[in-house]
This record gives sequence, structure tokens and C-alpha cells, in this order.
Amino acid sequence: EGMTIVELAKRTGESLSSLQDILLNVGEKVESEFDPLSIDIAELVAMELGVNVRRRHSDEGAKLLARPPVVTVMGHVDHGKTSLLDALRQTSLVEKEAGGITQHLGAFVVSMPSGSSITFLDTPGHAAFSAMRARGAAVTDIVVLVVAADDGVMPQTQEAMSHATLAKVPVVVAINKCDKPAADPEQVKLQLASEGLLLEEMGGDVQVVEVSAVKKTGLDRLEEALLLQAELMDLKARIDGPAQAYVVEARLDRGRGPLATAIVKAGTLVCGQYVVVGSEWGRIRALRDMVGKMTDRATPAMPIEIEGLKGLPMAGDDIVVVDSEERARMLSTGRTRKSEKDRLRKISEGRTEAEESSEEQEVVERVEMPIIVKADVQGTVQAVTDALKSLNSPQVFVNIVHVGVGPVSQSDIDLARACGACIVGFNVKNPPSSVTQAATRASIQIKTHRVIYHLLEDMGSLIVHKAPGTA
Ligand code: GDP
Repeated sequence: EGMTIVELAKRTGESLSSLQDILLNVGEKVESEFDPLSIDIAELVAMELGVNVRRRHSDEGAKLLARPPVVTVMGHVDHGKTSLLDALRQTSLVEKEAGGITQHLGAFVVSMPSGSSITFLDTPGHAAFSAMRARGAAVTDIVVLVVAADDGVMPQTQEAMSHATLAKVPVVVAINKCDKPAADPEQVKLQLASEGLLLEEMGGDVQVVEVSAVKKTGLDRLEEALLLQAELMDLKARIDGPAQAYVVEARLDRGRGPLATAIVKAGTLVCGQYVVVGSEWGRIRALRDMVGKMTDRATPAMPIEIEGLKGLPMAGDDIVVVDSEERARMLSTGRTRKSEKDRLRKISEGRTEAEESSEEQEVVERVEMPIIVKADVQGTVQAVTDALKSLNSPQVFVNIVHVGVGPVSQSDIDLARACGACIVGFNVKNPPSSVTQAATRASIQIKTHRVIYHLLEDMGSLIVHKAPGTA
């Protein structure tokens, strides 16, 4: 915890007097260089210095209790990730309690008769997984690798395996579609083994379960395999003390404002607390569990919906609890400024990269296509971003300069103007007329779509326009 200014100077290589100046700037009066600084203040100072900081929570001496595993489903497109999640969701108590009407909240819990439970992240796919990892959120404990029994190992199966390996997350294989006549699970196992996966039945430790998401067979065995894996990992978390949590999904509700689904990693999140979430902040006005029931606290691995944030956070953002509104505001401002700086740097670096690559390619000049993506929910943002990147070619470099959730706003226009970007609004409300007018004045194109295919068609023709050589 608390570090003194002297220690901070040692760690950052800054002089005492410049640190004191920074502290004064962030509104912290320093009585003595040997007074411990709070972790919030240390983070603020580090941000001012442009140093990347990550809070490390010490659980030393804390009482640790077993916690449920958090599971992500990955695999090749059409191998049945969504169907499997749907089938698993139907085995959950939540589904029964809610009479089948559950909202998509980004996560759900399956409670087993034995009393144990499993938390599933509800956005299948690699994009969500890597986006979270990129923000440092190690939320997933176990990956369910879905492989269709009639199709076998495909490129995205391999990709999912590398994601899991890189993240050091163990895999449980679900061979899906075993109901199909063409299903050949044994063949799939051989393929997986030749990819280097050490399957249990071949003497390794990767469990394999044969399932059918459509016929709903093998689901209980899959759940048992996940619990066994969790047991082997001896997953534990601190229950007492301030929460450390991550956002898995965020959306804007007309009546209730920004809502974030979060999963607590450690500690207990309590209604009424001040939190900083990524670069947003707020005071928790309400906590709801997966059936929408109000609760006053959330413990590890429990997905929870948070109401009361001032703005929309991003999937993978960390949630930290702070003492006061003032602290929350200060940290939020500091983080916003820092991420703005980082982003501008990235844009300028992206430019140089594009310039360099066009220098290298003498024959074809690569046209850069800066794009800002806005969509209704985080998952869609990711899907749209991935789809747009598929337009990349030797002639065209799709540069996604900024993404966000919600309608196109004035700040999007400002950014678009700064870097010559076009704005894509996917499944979002039309921007207010002041924004559209500002876009027209600055000759910025806003493309709004509700169907990915149409968006790609539209962008494709725009690209052909920009790069005459590509038609
Ligand atoms: P995703 O792209 O991995 O999310 O795959 P989907 O869940 O959308 O499934 C792709 C297609 O496979 C859909 O038409 C499903 O109905 C079908 N499908 C998924 N699971 C099974 C299964 O267990 N058996 C059969 N026969 N079809 C399945």
C-alpha cells in the first residue's frame, strides 16, 4: 500500500521537487516526504509522469475462499459457440427464475445441484477475449474450445488455442454437433492432438467432452469437466475488503443511464461506493444480479450490473473503489487525459507506420483509411471493427483510430477532423442535428448502418473511390 514520496522518487527516477510540484498540481498537500501517499495519489502522479501503472492488490494475510470459475467460449465460426451458450444458459437457475426472459448482460451463472457454480462470459469469440486482455483484464479462468465434430480443427480453432496458450488459460474441449451423422469425434481428437493439445485420454491433462448444443446432450458432463478443471486450479479469492472488478459489457439505457456488467475478481463491491471505471467514474446507485434483482453487494465471480456511472466504460476496464467523490473525479480526469495522450500518440505512430509502408511499396501506394467506429454495445463495436479490418488489402490500410459505444457525438467529429477519419455508426441512434451539421461543415462522412453486410458494401465502394487502383 502507501508509498512515500522518497520511495516514489526512487521508483520513477524523478527529483523530489518535481514530484512535489506534481502533487501540488493534483491538489495533494505534502507535509513530509516521508508521509505515505495513498494508492490513488500514487497513480495520479505516475499518470502525470506518463508512466503506465497497474494497481497490484495485495491479498497477503487476507482470508481466501474458493470462488467459481469464469469461463469463455471460443472456437471457429459456425461451430456452435452461440448455440452452446444458449443451451448452457437454459441449464442455469437464472433462466428458470426469470421464466426464460433474460437480458443479454454479458455473463450468466450456472448453479449446479452440488452447490457449486460456473460463470460464463456471454460474448463468444476471440475479439472480446483479446480486447479484454489488451486492457489487462485477466477475467477468464478457463476457455471452452468448441470444435464441430463434422468439421474438425479450422483456422479459428487454432487461433483460439494460441489465444488461450498466450494467456496461460487452460482449455476444456467441447466437441459439438455430435448428433450429426457426419460427426467424427475421434478424428477431431487426433487433429487436436497433432496441434499439440495434450488430451486427457492420451495421457495429457486437457479434458474433452462430446456434446450437442442442439440436442442438449453432454452439457452436464461439460459443466462437470469445468468444475473439475476449476478444482485443479484451486481458484480462490479474497471476499473481504474493497472490490477489484472488471467490466465485461456496457450499454446505455434510456432511463437508467450508463449500465455496466462487471465481474468482481476480489473483495466485495457494495452499493453506494464511489468507483473509478477505466476513465469514467460514478457512485453505485444500484446493483442488480442476473435476474435483475436488486442486491446491495457483489462477491467474486458474480456478474453484476452497475448503475450510477457518469459515462460508458469499455469491456475490460478495471473498477476500483475510492473514498470520495473528489478522488473519483480526480482519478477519472487523470486517466482520461492519459488515454487521450496515448491515443494521439498511437494515431501519429499509426500514420508514420502507414507512411513507412507506402515508402517500402514502390509499386502500389497504400491508401490509409482512418475510421472511427461507434456502435450500440461493446460486442458490436468489436464485430464491426473486425469486419472493417477485413477490408484491408495491399492497397488499403484500414486504420481504426477510435471506437466507442453510443451515438456519434461532437467529440467524435472533433477527432475525425483531427485525423481525417470517416465515422461509422452501427445500430446507434441518429446523432443530434447539431452534430450532423458540424460534420457537414467539416466535410466528414458519417455512415450509419444496421447490417454488417451493407456497411461493408458501402465502405468498400468508398475505398474504391479513395484508391482508384483497387477496383
Ligand atoms: P457460432 O458461429 O460458433 O456461434 O455457431 P452457431 O451457434 O451460430 O451455430 C452455427 C450453426 O450450427 C447453426 O445453424 C446451429 O443451429 C448449428 N449447430 C450448433 N450446434 C449444433 C449441434 O450441436 N448440432 C447440430 N446439428 N447443429 C448445431
